[in-house]
Amino acid sequence: MALGLVSIRRASSSAKGYNGGQIGGNDVDKADQIQWRLLNRRAFIRQGTLFLAGSTLGGSCGIAPAEGPEKPKVRIGLVTDLHYADKPPAGPRYYRETPAKLAEAAKRFEEQKVDLVVELGDMIDSADFLHVEKGYLRRIVKDFAAIPGKHYYVLGNHCVSALTKPEFLEIVGQKASFYSFDVKGYHFVVLDACFRSDGKPYGRGNFDWTDSNISAAEVEWLSADLKQTAHKTVVFVHQRLDVEPPLGVKNAPEVRKVLEASGKVLAVLQGHEHQGGYQEIGGVRYCTLKAMIEGSGPENNAYAIMDILPADSIRIRGFRKQKSYDPL
Ligand SMILES: [Zn+2]
Ligand SMILES: [Zn+2]
Repeated sequence: MALGLVSIRRASSSAKGYNGGQIGGNDVDKADQIQWRLLNRRAFIRQGTLFLAGSTLGGSCGIAPAEGPEKPKVRIGLVTDLHYADKPPAGPRYYRETPAKLAEAAKRFEEQKVDLVVELGDMIDSADFLHVEKGYLRRIVKDFAAIPGKHYYVLGNHCVSALTKPEFLEIVGQKASFYSFDVKGYHFVVLDACFRSDGKPYGRGNFDWTDSNISAAEVEWLSADLKQTAHKTVVFVHQRLDVEPPLGVKNAPEVRKVLEASGKVLAVLQGHEHQGGYQEIGGVRYCTLKAMIEGSGPENNAYAIMDILPADSIRIRGFRKQKSYDPL
């Protein structure tokens, strides 16, 4: 598609939220072990891109999918599970290729004039020493923060496997681990599912990655936050709210109830399960994006642009290995 370099519109937004606590531990995202349920939808071709009618799975593509005729009200660049580390590949994870993959996404986001960019967690992978891991984070945050637009970080279990939450937040320049903000008449909520069942925040190896929870205080905050907003809302979270553990949040049913009761949530965007996925529960759409880290070379990159369209429908254009959903 023909895209020119353009000046960037900066979204007017204001953040409010809570301070997070601590983190730590090690995890293996066992995406490969999880059966991905393909929904049986009618496929069609439009402008050279495969879409699936009715919303679920769009075309995985090495080229940009068609933008469509409708102008977005808000445009969001999305990346997840970058797992950046300066270390040799392990299995399907090519840690040193992340900066090049992110650079491609950054270029696309700039061309497409996104209003904001959201990183959905697991930005780094582990190192043998804390100072080295902090170096990984500083390195990749420098690239992410250079993308024009506002930047928002979601905490993933790997983000804090060595660091504490305050250490992570300080490096990325964010005050809170869960918070909300408004952009162009829409409300956005960032959740932090890095809490243990006993309510304690993850912190330096004190957690099992399968024990992911939204804390009681956070659920209370979420409920109040959704009540106070007059706007339609999009939620960002790392661990999944639409599946059971080990990849899902343990108290996801309680959180889903809050989301459904609000009647305001358009979609929930997630990471953590590296192969991605999609499903709808109780009228809320849950879209899990594919990890950027999996596979070598640009053809294995994965990132997305989400548009909120008039009438509050959502279009997700997937690039490289990321699927498109048109529209949700
Ligand atoms: Zn991950
Ligand atoms: Zn994860």
